[in-house]
Amino acid sequence: MKFECDIDFAAGYKSQQQISRVLSEQWFGVNGYCLACESDQLFPTPANTQASDFSCRNCEQIYELKAFRIKPKNRLVDGAYSAMISRIKSGSAPTLLLLERTDSWRIQGLTAVHHLFLTPEIIEMRKPLSSMARRAGWVGCNIRLDTIGPDAQISLVSSGVPVDRRIVREKFQEFERLKNIPVRQRGWTTFTLGIIRNLQCTEFSLNDVYLRERAFATAYPNNHNVRAKIRQQLQVLRDLGYLEFHGYGQYRLLI
Ligand SMILES: [Zn+2]
Repeated sequence: MKFECDIDFAAGYKSQQQISRVLSEQWFGVNGYCLACESDQLFPTPANTQASDFSCRNCEQIYELKAFRIKPKNRLVDGAYSAMISRIKSGSAPTLLLLERTDSWRIQGLTAVHHLFLTPEIIEMRKPLSSMARRAGWVGCNIRLDTIGPDAQISLVSSGVPVDRRIVREKFQEFERLKNIPVRQRGWTTFTLGIIRNLQCTEFSLNDVYLRERAFATAYPNNHNVRAKIRQQLQVLRDLGYLEFHGYGQYRLLI
């Protein structure tokens, strides 16, 4: 994997946005690979395809590439709100690839946000563009990265060093099991997993999760029986093979 971008490809482009797009796509086209299968080549999708920049011809996994000097921690600005929601509901949300680079276009980081962690709950509607705007009334969205658990974010390059792609693919596959959970319920499952991960210990009790009840209530203000929902989600996570029940309200995280 080569980490210097070839800035000659940006010759003739003036806007920073275009330069960023051209250089990041060029770099990723050469160095990117599929996380969902063994294919080491991804192909750019036609320029007018909404929110999908690369795809795998072997397994049809789709990827949306975004480049940053420093990637955002909380809100990731994305395209049209309605398009993203319908893609999530139809099971065709892209895996996001967040590329970080230096001022001189050396690649520092590449993080994938697993597509099955994109649920309607984490997509925030932005204010419609004002009547003065060229696309008046258009509604974009933010992806709330701060509400996605750490498992959703898979490192491919960290501090300028590549992670073994076998490890990257294993981690990606581990979460493909979430496909078995219908999208309208999956937000609860991924949120619960995020809460457990943030306990930062492999063994924990039901009470440890109950202590985070307020976080669940804030995320799901319309649910009035959060504890029952927590117990249900622990069962879901167990059935997915992510947790083991040890009896007497004791659990072990297996991933
Ligand atoms: Zn593939």
